[in-house]
Amino acid sequence: MEYSYLEPRWLWHFEWQTPREFSADAVERVVYSGKSKYQIIEIVETFEHGRALILDGRIQSAEKDEWIYHEALVHPPTLAHPWPERALIIGGGEGANLRELLKHKSIKEIVMVDLDEEVINIAKKYLWKWHQGAFDNSKVKLVIGDGRKYVSEYRGEKFDVVILDLTDPVVGGPSYYLYTYEFYSLIKDNVLKNDGIVVTQATSLVYSIEAHAMIRNTLAKVFKKASSYKVFIPAFHSIWSFAVASDVWDPKELSKEEVERRISERISGELRFYDGETHVEMFLLPKHIREKLSKIRDIAYDKKPPSLPI
Ligand code: SAM
Repeated sequence: MEYSYLEPRWLWHFEWQTPREFSADAVERVVYSGKSKYQIIEIVETFEHGRALILDGRIQSAEKDEWIYHEALVHPPTLAHPWPERALIIGGGEGANLRELLKHKSIKEIVMVDLDEEVINIAKKYLWKWHQGAFDNSKVKLVIGDGRKYVSEYRGEKFDVVILDLTDPVVGGPSYYLYTYEFYSLIKDNVLKNDGIVVTQATSLVYSIEAHAMIRNTLAKVFKKASSYKVFIPAFHSIWSFAVASDVWDPKELSKEEVERRISERISGELRFYDGETHVEMFLLPKHIREKLSKIRDIAYDKKPPSLPI
C-alpha cells in the first residue's frame, strides 16, 4: 500500500491559512532547522514542491515554483519603468529577486536590505538554485538591517524601483510595520525617485483578501496609481497577490505586445513564467474578487497594520 489515509507515514509541514483551515506538505527530509534572533528558519525537502524555505512556520518559496513568484514580483514593475538603473530590495532573503533583477540590461546597482543575516547565510549555502551566485555580483550591495529603519534614515541617491519581498504581516512578526501608510510614505519621501515604482508581495487572495485590499488601498493613498495582480503558486496552495504603485507608471496599462517588445529589448537570460500574455493575465482579476476588493475601503496605519487571519 503506497498511500494510506490512516498511516501518518511521513513528517508533515502544516501551515495554518485561517484558524479553521491548513495546508500540509509531506516532508522527505529536514535539511536545516534553527532559530535566529528574529525567526525560526527551516529548510526541508518536500515531496511535491522540492526544497523549501520556511520562516516562522510559513513557506517562503519552494524549488519547483519559486521562479513563478520571483518573476511575477520583479518583472512587471521593472519593465513598466522606462529604464531603471538603481533598485532597492527590502527582504528577499533567498536572493532570487537579485537573480531576476540582474537579467535587466538597464540595472547598474541593487541594494538589498534584509533583517536576518542568518537567512542570507543559509540561503547562500542551501538555496543555490534561487540566487545562482547573485550575492557575489559586483552590482549588488547587501545591507543587514531592518527595512523600515533603513528607509526612514536613508538620505542617499534615490531608486527607480523598490521591491518589497517581506514575510507576511503577522502580529509580532518582523515585517508587521512594513505594510502601512507610514512606511509607504517613507518610501515615497526618502528612497523612491519621483518617477519610481514600488511593488510588494501582498498575501493570499484566497485566505487574506482583506489584507491584500488594505495593502493596495494604502499604496493608492500614497501614490497616484496602484494596481493589484495575482498568480497561482502551488507551494503556497493559493492564488498569491502583489500590489504595485507609482505616481507615473502602471504595469497594468502595458499591452501584451509592449511587454514582449520590452522583454526582447531589455532582458537577457531565460524567463520561464513571464511573457506578454502572462503579464496581461496576471492583471485580470475575476469578477467576485473585483467586487470583494471594491467593498473593502480600509487603509493600513501603524496603529492597525494588515494581518493574516491566523
Ligand atoms: N516570498 C516570501 C513570502 O511570500 O512571504 C518572502 C520571502 S523573503 C525570504 C522574506 C524576508 O524578509 C526574510 O529573509 C526576512 O528576514 C525578511 N524580513 C522580514 N522582516 C524584515 C524587516 N523588517 N526588514 C528587512 N527584512 C525583513
